[in-house]
Amino acid sequence: MSLPDDRLTAVFDEVVRRNPGEQEFHQAVREVLENLGPVVDKHAAFADTEIIRRLCEPERQIIFRVPWADDEGRPQLNRGFRVEFNSALGPYKGGLRFHPSVYLGIVKFLGFEQIFKNSLTGLPIGGAKGGSDFDPKGRSDAEVMRFCQSFMTELYRHLGEYTDVPAGDTGVGQREIGYLFGQYKRITNRYESGVLTGKGLNWGGSRVRTEATGYGLVFFVDEILKAADASFDGMTVVVSGSGNVAVHAVQKVHQLGGRVVACSDSNGFVVDEDGIDLELLREIKEERRGRMTDYAEARGDKARYVEGESIWSVPCDVALPCATQNELDEDGARRLADHGCRVVAEGANMPTTPEAIRVLRDAGVSFAPGKAANAGGVATSALEMQQNASRDTWTFEYTEERLAEIMHSVHDRCLETAEEYGSPGDYVAGANIGGFIRVADAMVALGLV
Ligand code: GLU
Repeated sequence: MSLPDDRLTAVFDEVVRRNPGEQEFHQAVREVLENLGPVVDKHAAFADTEIIRRLCEPERQIIFRVPWADDEGRPQLNRGFRVEFNSALGPYKGGLRFHPSVYLGIVKFLGFEQIFKNSLTGLPIGGAKGGSDFDPKGRSDAEVMRFCQSFMTELYRHLGEYTDVPAGDTGVGQREIGYLFGQYKRITNRYESGVLTGKGLNWGGSRVRTEATGYGLVFFVDEILKAADASFDGMTVVVSGSGNVAVHAVQKVHQLGGRVVACSDSNGFVVDEDGIDLELLREIKEERRGRMTDYAEARGDKARYVEGESIWSVPCDVALPCATQNELDEDGARRLADHGCRVVAEGANMPTTPEAIRVLRDAGVSFAPGKAANAGGVATSALEMQQNASRDTWTFEYTEERLAEIMHSVHDRCLETAEEYGSPGDYVAGANIGGFIRVADAMVALGLV
């Protein structure tokens, strides 16, 4: 899809010029700008595109050295990042990713997406993202702890419950949040619970936060199905990935009567026609930190392990990419469409390439972008902040109910916005425009023009 007019093309060209080589960031910006044509036409305040230009430039970018020592006492060096993208709606909010692929362009793309996602939740949170090229794979617990302590020794000065509130993302779970929080507390001498989310239950965490992204994704798809007079009952589902988002998506699909027949890791995927055995998957992933080969082995004849092929070749009614960016390409989308897939919803951030989105759209497959469909994680982080601020803890049922309500409202906001701006039924347009309007209005109101 080309950009809708010369003003938006100029903004995009400037982004490419100012951020050379940051391909993922360019892709994320382009996807939003493609939908803003009707917005600049309709709103005088945005017609000169100055707000859009400013929105594409992070408010602050922090890059820092993370020195640490491995178990043999050898010095190690990584790079840390925090991109504080936009704070018009609230403190900067967004996860930290520890993965060897992390560089400034990845952090910017994730931070940019986060602005719109957080805006769509309707909650008072700005957008940010951070992380490091540190690879936790194969590292001991003690090494991960020393790395987290060094990372926080530099980052703490930029954080605060009213300033910037990180959480987890790929490679950062409750263990890492614990080490980061401990170091923040040690340095500042403040038990400032609201400075990080994704904490453990007995040290300021929220119930449902661990489950929230996966559950929220499935609630969102449930809304899509309901809008088409359907439900998960009897549906066949494929989930890529096998991390936190994937595991809890599998669990909720099964609770709602669907059957997840495949999931994957970075090496290959497993097909289990009886439905993925959730207990086994959790034991392997969460307790043993194992691989999908271990799952296949434990299931014997019941499951088959496939390497060197695309998980999207497995026929399904609903596909949930929950692994990483650009994992679902044009070829995968074509296979899904050919097999009669009805809904694709992104559990990961930007897992579907622009070409794949086009194929799905042309084939009439409902497509829900991550900034709407996976907003349940950060939304529940905002609920954790609410509990921290009031020194309260909510029950599982109440918190899950709040999450379901938020996903319902994100869904409706997307559909209503898409309708209002001339793209009925288009969740991508609805998410981009709906997310944009709320932030941009706040920027104008705060005099940030
Ligand atoms: N990393 C998650 C996301 O992509 C959650 C961020 C948060 O809870 O702050 O939305």
